[in-house]
Amino acid sequence: MRLRKAMVNLSSGSVVSPHRSDERRLLLLTTTTGYQTRAFVEGAAKVGVAVVLGTDRCHVLDDPWRDGALPLRFEAPEESARRIADLARSQPLDGIVALGDCATSTAARACRMLGLLHHTAEAADICRDKHRSRERLCAGGLSVPRFVLFPVENNSQHIATVGSSAFGYPCVLKPLALSASRGVIRADNPWEFARAFDRIRTLLLSPEIRVTRQAANDFIQVEEYIEGAEIAVEGIVDRSRLKVLAIFDKPDPLIGPFFGETIYVTPSSLPEEVQAGVVEALERAVQALGLFHGPLHAELRINPRGFWMMEVAARPIGGLCSRALRFRSPDLGENISLEELIIRLALGEGMGTIHREEAASGVMMIPVPEAGILHEVEGAEEARATAGVEEVIITAKPGEKLVPLPEGSSYPGFIFARGPSSEYVERALRRAHQQLHFALSPALPVM
Ligand code: ADP
Ligand code: CA
Repeated sequence: MRLRKAMVNLSSGSVVSPHRSDERRLLLLTTTTGYQTRAFVEGAAKVGVAVVLGTDRCHVLDDPWRDGALPLRFEAPEESARRIADLARSQPLDGIVALGDCATSTAARACRMLGLLHHTAEAADICRDKHRSRERLCAGGLSVPRFVLFPVENNSQHIATVGSSAFGYPCVLKPLALSASRGVIRADNPWEFARAFDRIRTLLLSPEIRVTRQAANDFIQVEEYIEGAEIAVEGIVDRSRLKVLAIFDKPDPLIGPFFGETIYVTPSSLPEEVQAGVVEALERAVQALGLFHGPLHAELRINPRGFWMMEVAARPIGGLCSRALRFRSPDLGENISLEELIIRLALGEGMGTIHREEAASGVMMIPVPEAGILHEVEGAEEARATAGVEEVIITAKPGEKLVPLPEGSSYPGFIFARGPSSEYVERALRRAHQQLHFALSPALPVM
């Protein structure tokens, strides 16, 4: 409640929490003013730092907080960084945090201008591009799938047959600059390849994607399909040194043709030596990409041939998932959020030793069951009552159009569980999910 009050009582400026003259100031860069932003605002309140928001209004239709945020264009990072530097002349900044992939390039440039700690601009740019990051990781000696780039207007049937020697089957087709597995499709033969390529082309040529005007969206990358168990790693890089905060197992089989994430559980059940191998591979990835200071979210596949980098992003885990993480430290106490750690990092504070809490923990990113207009979600109370379940948050609103993968880009909700073991947590998440029923009506085609 207190937080809300602080937001509503906004002065004409862009500070979303009250600012005292002796207080430090943090700039949060975000494309949406959703739950994740709120979690960072809460983290900032705990750290005792005032928050200024910078958002990309071009892609945001609503302004629920009426926060008067600094308007920026994340697709023009140099220009946006200059605006931030201008703002900092009257409202000095002590740190900048970017929430999604889109904002990292802007944050990095602004930090460079202002002498603040951050990932370098080059590393931020590379991590946002699935082709450039593959090149860098490959040059750094890391295991990455074979990868080839095709202009989106190429003839898919021609590539599927004549061009396939460059990747082989099965393969994975993907856009370069989308996230949450959007547009990522596996193909096992030329026929599936051509269909997948054309489907991704349609997505990339849609007005919603064109408006971002990223040159990366003119290409589709095709990669060798890598078998193996997949994990996600949450970490921070502190002046070039990687600190792994959590390794999540992804117990659902991710074999395609689409790759919805669903369940994350931690601690990982991988043997100690395999987890040590993950950390070692990621340390080399951090060096190869030139990541310097800030959050890191990575995904790897593990098989007898090695630790395969699926993705290394210069941002924290997305959506509400960070609620699955809680930390303790001798210096900072108990119950520390990921947001608090990232904020302290951005302010240049020493991190000391950080441990994840004792309990096993997990989150299910609820998959969109099918395309349609949402009426209501039934069974949420029953799902909440499941032993081990802490929260069920339905983020989709009645009347909202739900779009499944590969075209969709958001989850309709999240389930969180904690318990004595990862197996317990996974079972709790599945049981809770079985209680949920999405009442949908068919989405009418646009005339
Ligand atoms: P996004 O950034 O949209 O999450 P990713 O490149 O991380 O896209 O791919 C999403 C998921 O698709 C991965 O987590 C993985 O499960 C699967 N995937 C992507 N590329 C490959 C590949 N080359 N081999 C096997 N699976 C892949
Ligand atoms: Ca990913």
